[in-house]
Amino acid sequence: MSVLVVVECADGEVKKSSLEVASYGAQVAAQLGTTATAIAVGHANEANLAKLGEQGITKVLFDAEPRLKDFVNNAYTKLIATAAEQEQAKIIVLANSNIGAAVGSRLSVRLKASLATNVVELPKTDGGQFTVKRGAFSGKAFSDVVLSGDRKIIAVKKNSTEAKHDDGKTAEVVSFAAQLSDADFADAPTQVIMQDQAGGVLLPEAELVVSGGRGMKGPENWGLIEDLAKALGAGTACSKPVSDVDWRPHHEHVGQTGITISPNLYIACGISGAIQHLAGVNSSKVIVVINKDPEAPFFKAADYGIVGDVFDVLPKLTAAVKALN
Ligand code: FAD
Repeated sequence: MSVLVVVECADGEVKKSSLEVASYGAQVAAQLGTTATAIAVGHANEANLAKLGEQGITKVLFDAEPRLKDFVNNAYTKLIATAAEQEQAKIIVLANSNIGAAVGSRLSVRLKASLATNVVELPKTDGGQFTVKRGAFSGKAFSDVVLSGDRKIIAVKKNSTEAKHDDGKTAEVVSFAAQLSDADFADAPTQVIMQDQAGGVLLPEAELVVSGGRGMKGPENWGLIEDLAKALGAGTACSKPVSDVDWRPHHEHVGQTGITISPNLYIACGISGAIQHLAGVNSSKVIVVINKDPEAPFFKAADYGIVGDVFDVLPKLTAAVKALN
């Protein structure tokens, strides 16, 4: 029995969320007295895959099929399922990402495995049960879920665990062929459109995010958000009303009806902090709120609050960040 960890790669790098997942999977393997093997998906680089040893991974399987560079649901599902069979993996760990969510449910059916998404802690294995804690109701509550059956799939929420930095340890990178056919790639995208064509940071992957709400008054003022984002190397986001009136594109809208993000730092500028907005950002590690209304609900969720006018605060903040660079 082993633990199989799915690591997502882009531009040759292992994504940060997958480094966390690798560390999580290695800890689960240690709990169970076994080893953790990884299977790489996406555009991987072998040297970076070997560095997964730092997270406690002993072996990384890598299929050099070029069509695996971009996400294709059927092909990724077959690749991971084949690796799980080969490694006799009873536990499969993946990121609670768009890819993880799409593949996790298919894998669950294909491998007849129980599945828990949005998992925030290591499992408890006492009393013969396998229990995981998962976030529910947009992060407002947690539930303990007992996973049953011979095989279990765990999708780990971003920022729930720390990636390690034990320099020096390397994993063995082993070539792996899942014998994928043309039919497995039948649902391949004809074109992949990157959200940020201007060369900025893609929002779902951004570790730092600067976000604007209706308090920014209009699209002509977004330069203030972009200047701070550029100085920090951050992505930009917005509240729903802002994208509804086309001040910003819809893919920047975060919240209950937009995308959910978990960056290390979320700076909210002129956003009131409605519950539907918080649903998309409340698992950010550090939240900074800039709002001229000291009673704005967002301050209750903030780690740091600045009561002030965004048009006054933002230029000063950007200048201060630039001075540090
Ligand atoms: P406002 O509520 O108008 O707040 C603007 C804030 O800016 C205020 O707090 C004000 O004090 C501050 N401000 C004004 N001027 C300045 C200034 N010069 N300097 C500093 N601060 C200033 N919303 C989302 O964001 N994401 C969602 O996914 C989402 N989904 C929804 C789903 C449903 C079913 C519903 C009913 C609503 C949803 N909403 C969502 C809308 C949500 O309820 C709020 O209406 C919205 O988040 C408010 O956006 P806002 O904070 O930008 O604007």
